[in-house]
Amino acid sequence: MPELPEVETTMRGISPYLMDKKILAINVRQASLRWRVPTTINDAVDHKVTSLTRRGKYIVASTDQGSIILHLGMSGSLRIVDQPFELRKHDHVIFDLCGSKSMIYHDPRRFGCILWTDRAAHTHPLLASLGPEPLGNEFSGSYLFQRSRGKKVAVKNFIMNSGIVVGVGNIYASEALFSAGIRPGKAAGRISAAAFDTLALEIRSVLTAAIKSGGTTLRDFVNSDGEPGYFQQTLNVYGREGEPCRRCSTIIKQRVLGQRSTFYCSQCQN
Ligand SMILES: [Zn+2]
Repeated sequence: MPELPEVETTMRGISPYLMDKKILAINVRQASLRWRVPTTINDAVDHKVTSLTRRGKYIVASTDQGSIILHLGMSGSLRIVDQPFELRKHDHVIFDLCGSKSMIYHDPRRFGCILWTDRAAHTHPLLASLGPEPLGNEFSGSYLFQRSRGKKVAVKNFIMNSGIVVGVGNIYASEALFSAGIRPGKAAGRISAAAFDTLALEIRSVLTAAIKSGGTTLRDFVNSDGEPGYFQQTLNVYGREGEPCRRCSTIIKQRVLGQRSTFYCSQCQN
């Protein structure tokens, strides 16, 4: 599933083809995504993209008429192709751009969305309730500490709650908790200020490293043959159940928290 680093890299990858460029046509081949693609999306046609930003895992492309709000869901991707091009199965929405290029939204499972708003994008219900960006200035250990007092929720679920902080998905939550030495199931309200300081740093660090490694996949967004690859990183705990901890050789455990597989080392994390 695309997580924050993949979305950030996607946004950077499509930016040269969208920023200050006119959207010439939008062809919605399959409108039934997570929510129906509204016909008002066509209000963007013949208008330039004046800003392109990421908020959580949403990509927001704004014109002077309004904003396209796009989410890749579980299996979505965007690719830039030269016209003419061959459509593939699950290519649902095609944006024709300047310079005989098109941007194709591809999503086999259709849990993503492409929406339109003619108001300020940050006031859209999907974006208005989002917590701070993990790489932004508002996010810190003391912020997590303040928000978590009295909370019994497992710390992993706490940091994966987009109302607390956006874009910390399952893989990165597991990895950051390992690096910070915190047991994922521990109640958020019982974590010390110092431990949250470490955790906030580790969240930033794991996301920044992933974005950096994503830079090498940018070419995939301009290559009509290449699927945009998601990042292969060295993972310490995620997906390593039954394997030895890289730090202490204890066997990595798995448990389900908030209906998500959770991996941890019972020796390194407490
Ligand atoms: Zn260990």
